[in-house]
Amino acid sequence: MPSPLTYYTVICDCGHKGKIVYQENDTPFASLREYYRTEGFISKPYLTSAATWDNVFDNLAAICPECGREQTIRNLKDV
Ligand SMILES: [Zn+2]
Repeated sequence: MPSPLTYYTVICDCGHKGKIVYQENDTPFASLREYYRTEGFISKPYLTSAATWDNVFDNLAAICPECGREQTIRNLKDV
């Protein structure tokens, strides 16, 4: 059974809205248990363990498709 997804709202300074999606990595015996990606931003996926939000934003390097700004923890709305 796939792990449930958790969504965190990210709002760019220009008003564009997207999400960081968190999922537990359910691959058996995987050492990296946390999988992050975005919806609505241009980013890389990030597989990790015990990340902080600073790590997550650094590694996702999420770019707004509307204005090109890189998102930071300041843009995270509901944590
Ligand atoms: Zn933007």
